[in-house]
Amino acid sequence: AMKEASMHFVELEELLTKASQRVADMLGVEAAYITSGASAGIVLSVAACITGDDPEKIRRIPNTEGLENEIILLKTHFSHYEQQVRAGGGRIVEIGQNKYSHLWELERAINERTAGILYFVESEEMRGSLPLVDVIKVAKEKNIPVLVDAAAEIPPVENLTKFLEMGADLVQFSGGKDIRGPQASGLILGRKDLIKACALNSNPHSAIGRPFKVDKETIVGLVKALELYLEQDFEEEMNQWHKQTDYVVKELSGIPGLTVQKGLGESPGIQPECIPRAYITWDEAKLGLTKDELVELLKTGEPGIAVSTFPLRGIDVNPHMLNPGEEVIVVNRIKEIFSQKGAS
Ligand SMILES: *Cc1c(COP(=O)(O)O)cnc(C)c1O
Repeated sequence: AMKEASMHFVELEELLTKASQRVADMLGVEAAYITSGASAGIVLSVAACITGDDPEKIRRIPNTEGLENEIILLKTHFSHYEQQVRAGGGRIVEIGQNKYSHLWELERAINERTAGILYFVESEEMRGSLPLVDVIKVAKEKNIPVLVDAAAEIPPVENLTKFLEMGADLVQFSGGKDIRGPQASGLILGRKDLIKACALNSNPHSAIGRPFKVDKETIVGLVKALELYLEQDFEEEMNQWHKQTDYVVKELSGIPGLTVQKGLGESPGIQPECIPRAYITWDEAKLGLTKDELVELLKTGEPGIAVSTFPLRGIDVNPHMLNPGEEVIVVNRIKEIFSQKGAS
């Protein structure tokens, strides 16, 4: 689809508008907007809440002094993406504590300068968080939009629409994560008026989002990827992940000194939680190999293998981005490294 798109001249804004409408129709949501990634989606969503469709305000972003520009963020929801709030002209108002936050803190933070509330789903389970349903309830009472960063929240596929069904106003997803569309693509889903404001703040308009141009190949590629994604057999895919993980656990459990356990992504912050992974721990002193050394050896081998490290759970082999059969390559390489360390 991307190759075919590359061979035609199109009016880019028309393609973007129609492709975005197609996404909205496929998902059964009020409106959608294709952008260059979830983080671009945060910038545009924040800007949209501040400017609406006012051209003068759009031109002022990111300098929003004197405008309704406050974006409320829970302390435990500072992830890696709050700079996108500032880029979109938002002034961050932090509420809550590390261990406990209260709804009255949210209620009291809302005032005549509040533009929106940004909520990171991956932080929902943190101790100092507040449940999204409660945040939405307060926001509705005060007529404040709720923006939800759900970039990596699928699978399950239901999450594509769940947060809107709960009452969120705009939700951002990455196109290059589980949807496996073009890497530099993303989706904003939600309210028609706010989606329109997102578009006005983005390419081809002369606005803060002008650098977030999505080329015609990416637009078409994302629509195609979403079509394929929605037709996918998710149960079969989950079975595949279980099989791959079981293989890793079985094969590596035989190595003396290694403890290999199957587990789910541990909340909070390890997305998507529902994918089974193999967690590997060992006595670093005894085997003369630290986690970081293993990560480096795996990364610099041929082919390079990426794993994550965890304070208590060692390293993980995550099947999410392994093609069927690639778990064998991973297992063989890990066996090879440990056997060179004398564990075999
Ligand atoms: C990946 C991710 C992003 C950024 O998404 P891009 O599509 O790479 O811009 C933002 N927020 C969260 C929670 C993410 O996991």
